[in-house]
Amino acid sequence: MSLFTAVELAPRDPILGLNEQFAADTNPQKVNLGVGVYFDENGKLPLLAAVRKAEEALQAEPKARGYLPIDGLPAYDQAVKELVFGKESEPVASGRVATIQALGGTGGLKVGADFLKKLSPDAKVLISNPSWENHRAIFNNAGFEVGTYAYYDAAQRGIDFDALLADLNAAAEKTVVVLHACCHNPTGYDLTPAQWDQVIEVVKARNLTPFLDMAYQGFSQGLAEDGAVVGKFVAAGLEFLVSTSFSKSFSLYGERVGALSVVTASKEEAARVLSQLKIVIRTNYSNPPTHGGAVVAYVLGNPELRALWEQELGEMRTRIKAMRQQLVEGLKAAGVTQDQSFITTQVGMFSYSGLNKDQMVRLRNEFGVYGTDSGRICVAALNSKNVDYVAKAIAQVI
Ligand code: PMP
Repeated sequence: MSLFTAVELAPRDPILGLNEQFAADTNPQKVNLGVGVYFDENGKLPLLAAVRKAEEALQAEPKARGYLPIDGLPAYDQAVKELVFGKESEPVASGRVATIQALGGTGGLKVGADFLKKLSPDAKVLISNPSWENHRAIFNNAGFEVGTYAYYDAAQRGIDFDALLADLNAAAEKTVVVLHACCHNPTGYDLTPAQWDQVIEVVKARNLTPFLDMAYQGFSQGLAEDGAVVGKFVAAGLEFLVSTSFSKSFSLYGERVGALSVVTASKEEAARVLSQLKIVIRTNYSNPPTHGGAVVAYVLGNPELRALWEQELGEMRTRIKAMRQQLVEGLKAAGVTQDQSFITTQVGMFSYSGLNKDQMVRLRNEFGVYGTDSGRICVAALNSKNVDYVAKAIAQVI
């Protein structure tokens, strides 16, 4: 009898399982649209020029690798605040935002979840139906009961907004509501500015706790445009949390660069909140790693590199939109008569294709086109060489 006899084999991560299946597929035309990663026109994971230049500059003056402060590199935290809320914004200027460097967007969500669990142990968490699959697990693991609010409506290929509002209206006070700030994963459907206003009204009236997940700032309309949602919560006088990820926007997936910002009522309150966030971090991983934060802080703080980064981010955004357009045209050319224009209404890296599980399995087995069983495909992995093949394959299974 071993100490670990009773340990059960956990189910495989569905996306990683898909990757393994893809790797083993011998179809020369295979296309992996399962992962949430941006690939360039050549199907390669980009190393942004802004990142490379920042790394060269940092390398020119190598630094010893001491521990960072528990809450991360000060220049990084400040740069995140300015990016997320605006440099001149009142909450930043008045010092009432507590920001910590986190291990990617996932880390920001986890630190926030642990902090909220101590603050409101009896609160429930609501995530959208559907949502990024890790949302439920992260908040469950932090000890929360996790429910859903209505979101996707397959019949109208969009958001069931009335049902969403009804669910938020029925939520108990202090319920933590996880909201995708932009580029909803997995559906690609975002709320309109007017709908955000209505959500904010309910959040305020019901005294809910908003937790914005900002994993794709800059991938919908632009950095400032996508950040405007955060500004709406500020303008409404709400206190809330925002997690940030630079995994996609800097193509720095493996460096684990993200953040958590907590908007509080005052500078003094922010200091108390920060002290608690530091305890969460200290007892989990002590302090964040140096490299990714240093690169992002360097780029954001250097006018030339910042402009270069914004240009590169804009190119990623524009290329994804072009791929959406080409996919729609390719589907039409392949004989699909149903209207597929919803693909260009969606934003961000993903498209909920509307295909069912059987169709997704056929795509995989017969054509080597890999998306998730839910019908989600990553349009950021399409390029001009594979888009027609993918369109033809989808046309065959529709
Ligand atoms: N939130 C959402 C909605 C995401 O799609 C992702 C990444 N797939 C994350 C958070 C986590 O990002 P990171 O890889 O930076 O942890």
